[in-house]
Amino acid sequence: MKINLTNIKKSEKLLNIGECVAIPTETVYGLAGNAYSNSACKKIFKLKKRPKNNPLIVHYYNKKNLKQDCSYNRSFLKLYKKFCPGPITFILDLKKGSKISKIATNKLNTLAVRFPKHPVARCLLKKLNFPLAAPSANLSSRVSSVSSSDVKEDFGKKIKYVLEGGRSTIGLESTIIDLRDKPSILRLGGLKISEIQKVLNKKIKISNTNSNILSPGQFKIHYSPGIPVRLNIKKMKKEEAYISIKREGKDKPNCFFLSKNGNLNEAAKNLYSTLRKIKKKNYKSIAVGKIPNKGLGKTINDRLMRASKF
Ligand code: AMP
Ligand code: MG
Repeated sequence: MKINLTNIKKSEKLLNIGECVAIPTETVYGLAGNAYSNSACKKIFKLKKRPKNNPLIVHYYNKKNLKQDCSYNRSFLKLYKKFCPGPITFILDLKKGSKISKIATNKLNTLAVRFPKHPVARCLLKKLNFPLAAPSANLSSRVSSVSSSDVKEDFGKKIKYVLEGGRSTIGLESTIIDLRDKPSILRLGGLKISEIQKVLNKKIKISNTNSNILSPGQFKIHYSPGIPVRLNIKKMKKEEAYISIKREGKDKPNCFFLSKNGNLNEAAKNLYSTLRKIKKKNYKSIAVGKIPNKGLGKTINDRLMRASKF
């Protein structure tokens, strides 16, 4: 992708004066602000209407820049080497002298850290002398944004600038792994657990509890398109939109498919845009067919399950 340096410069200027800018990443678009600035982080929470106890992921250009804020262990180094930059977020211990805003972490002594792969995000991060706090660029509890137009749809003129970066190639949020003690997955995401297990050479538990404030990312209701979603449905109701994993039979106006042939990566990429499309067409509810519970299908099912709690 060709990088427009004028757009990068504009983003840089706004971020340097404590404003928020939406940025493209390979997972989903992020709503970014200076992670060292309390006021910039406050703006992010306000714009998203995000509960204060749901801390932000902080994005770094590389490991060198992370050193001043967090300590890390060998598991981190192994995963960093294999998957970064990429769709994985690490929960690490904050160092005492770290400048990370306490608003971003909700005063936790841990930090969620990611190194995005998107060339536009990387170009911007390289130019800044602070990391970017950037949760997904959507209203809290709603569907994430996978394009600049999604972001504009959610925020309109409320955000100063949306940095264009095309469509997010993965389309699902990062996989969050807590590496402080025994590794555990706090949120399923765009990187398959099997891949992580291969590198760490052990089985990793998924800690998907909703009660533990250490992993507030696992709120029960999330990723909602704003209308009811029914899961594992074979037969839809009249006037309902229907989502299937692959194209089935003749195309009907109320039938949507996530991929042509059932490819789970393609389905992941299309999930949020399909939910948004259906909402815009004014359907009152959505029925979803069975999605295979393997690979990224597990993440898709996790998101749909939360979306169905509307
Ligand atoms: P998003 O808002 O979509 O970017 O998601 C960020 C996720 O990271 C949320 O689910 C947060 O709860 C989670 N998160 C951020 N910081 C921490 C932390 N220190 N410990 C555990 N989870 C975190
Ligand atoms: Mg989010």
